[in-house]
Amino acid sequence: MERISFTIDGRICASDKGLNLIEAAKQNGIFIPTLCHFKHQNPIGSCRICTVKLNGKAIAGCTLNVQEGMNIEVNTPILLDTRKAILEMMFVEGNHFCPSCEKSGDCQMQNLGYETGIRSARFPHLFVERFIDAKAKRIVINKNRCIKCKRCFEEVTTNDGYKVFSFINKGNKTIVSVDYEQEEKLTESQAQYAMKICPTGAILVKGKSLSKPFGDRIFDQGIPGKTIPFLKTNKNNNSTQKKLVATTSLAGCFGCHMSMLDIDLGLLDLIELVEFNKSPFTDIKKFTKRCDIGIIEGGCSNTHNFEVLRAFRENCDILVSVGECAIWGGLPALRNTISLEECLNEAYKNSLSSEQDETIIPNHEEIPKIFNKVYANHEIVKIDYHIPGCPPNSNHIWNVVKNILFEEEYAIPYPEFKYD
Ligand code: SF4
Ligand code: SF4
Repeated sequence: MERISFTIDGRICASDKGLNLIEAAKQNGIFIPTLCHFKHQNPIGSCRICTVKLNGKAIAGCTLNVQEGMNIEVNTPILLDTRKAILEMMFVEGNHFCPSCEKSGDCQMQNLGYETGIRSARFPHLFVERFIDAKAKRIVINKNRCIKCKRCFEEVTTNDGYKVFSFINKGNKTIVSVDYEQEEKLTESQAQYAMKICPTGAILVKGKSLSKPFGDRIFDQGIPGKTIPFLKTNKNNNSTQKKLVATTSLAGCFGCHMSMLDIDLGLLDLIELVEFNKSPFTDIKKFTKRCDIGIIEGGCSNTHNFEVLRAFRENCDILVSVGECAIWGGLPALRNTISLEECLNEAYKNSLSSEQDETIIPNHEEIPKIFNKVYANHEIVKIDYHIPGCPPNSNHIWNVVKNILFEEEYAIPYPEFKYD
């Protein structure tokens, strides 16, 4: 095979002529992330995560075969941000609820989110209505999470050579579908292979998807010693004066507040540095002083949440959304895929505990009005920082807060950066 040379980000590389760029880069110690490219399959460039530039033009890297003298850009700041943006689009396009996902910790897409350092998406979540198909014998397909990589089409066949998965519909209505008759012929290990090669949690096997516990899954531990740098503020702040902190829980479960308290004796060190003002920790109901930082748990679900959020923006120099509910709506936003009317009817009129003809949907001027959907806080007011997790680990929360307030050095240990 003829050897050729080419450059990646100005570095001279060598490989066999015509080798796929992803493989050629790997041979030269350069990692190009991708979610659709898979071993021997013909590259289709559908996920676009591997976007690179060839002679200045953007192209899906997996569709490129290296040739003599090629000049390829892979990790320039613009390309790193482009990849991150493409991944963010995937997160908002499907209903990716990592805290309640069976694939969490085992999911390539989620791991790529950690790798690229996504803390929040710059696009609004679409909350599309797509159903979960559990009719097949072994496999459950969660159509929300499919990124249309086609791995399952090519890789999963019955022993007599029939395909099991295909697409139905066209354009942005395209969804993955399973052939029930062929699926029934799959062996247990073939079904589990389908679940394994799916880069997301779109394909699950009944009774098997949770067989490995959270915490022990492939991406749970991350790479030992690897850290993710956290953004430092621009303030040149060497002050040792105590900082004022406010906290609140909007449409959340108070889990993030419980996590904040979980530093145990670390609280004694913390109160040397900060003083809490309006917060469930102090039971101070209204701001009595302007605060340096406001920590918000939970998303914005009703008129009361909205008023509290605006008060925090008015009274705090810096606002931080903590946890998935604050960042994109989280579990309360599960209701965003159905209408408010349907949701209220289910809660107050049709629930098992409702007495027929004797129930009403509460409606009083003193009861906050529920919004049609749960909003991410940054859709309502400017949020300066996001700390993902459900909930984030307590040390992680306070280390980030100290980093922001006192510019203490902090890089997030890889296993602490979580969406679940
Ligand atoms: S774990 Fe993966 S598939 Fe599941 S919701 Fe998160 S990103 Fe989506
Ligand atoms: S179900 Fe999974 S493997 Fe199949 S196309 Fe969708 S994301 Fe890819």
